[in-house]
Amino acid sequence: MKTIPYWIETAGSFPDRSGKPLTEDTDLVVVGAGLTGLSTALHSARKGARVTLVEKGQIGSGASARNGGMANLGFTVGVGQAIRRYGLERAREIYNSYGVPREKLALVDCGSIYDVATPKQNASKPPTVWQSFDIDFYPPKFDGAKKVAPARMTVVHNGVKIHDNQEIKVDNTTAGLGGDPNTPGPILLQG
Ligand SMILES: Cc1cc2nc3c(=O)[nH]c(=O)nc-3n(C[C@H](O)[C@H](O)[C@H](O)COP(=O)(O)OP(=O)(O)OC[C@H]3O[C@@H](n4cnc5c(N)ncnc54)[C@H](O)[C@@H]3O)c2cc1C
Repeated sequence: MKTIPYWIETAGSFPDRSGKPLTEDTDLVVVGAGLTGLSTALHSARKGARVTLVEKGQIGSGASARNGGMANLGFTVGVGQAIRRYGLERAREIYNSYGVPREKLALVDCGSIYDVATPKQNASKPPTVWQSFDIDFYPPKFDGAKKVAPARMTVVHNGVKIHDNQEIKVDNTTAGLGGDPNTPGPILLQG
């Protein structure tokens, strides 16, 4: 098993400037050469700034050369936290599903069954306009403790059928209440 990250192994060597004084001929000093610092330095230089990039170890020696390479469209903050942190207007922009093209809808967009299925059409109305959901939910079927058929759902959003008898194969959807799928529980809408 290799323990040296691919990026470091293939990057070649960098000049060792440790102990040497920094140039004063600079507009911007960026501390840390991970993705954040490198991107800041690159884009500032492209705009004409004279940039000095300072790294205490090796370029890419932090998290940036170690991550799993996963890109996802979810957010690490929920709606309430986003409002507190960024204000209502910005949070609305982040979470607004209105007008998003169908093919760009994510599993957290309005009308999605969380992490199970995106809506077949985007029927979202603009922010501040009331929306309607008509949901037919068919619970999973059990034979004793064994699940023999998954839950299914048909959803009509603002008069448009966005899920048609959609199978929900997981026992618990993300951010649901969790627990035994053979026990009745509520359908949670995230707004
Ligand atoms: C194991 C792991 C898996 C991950 N998987 C994913 C993933 O799949 N998808 C995803 O999107 N994100 C993932 N992440 C997160 C992602 O890698 C980080 O959010 C991102 O790389 C952070 O970049 P950064 O430039 O801010 O920090 P870093 O890459 O850590 O860069 C900071 C740099 O600053 C330097 N430094 C610190 N202090 C000083 C100082 N005083 N002077 C000079 N230099 C200094 C460090 O040496 C380092 O090189 C993962 C992270 C880890 C650790």
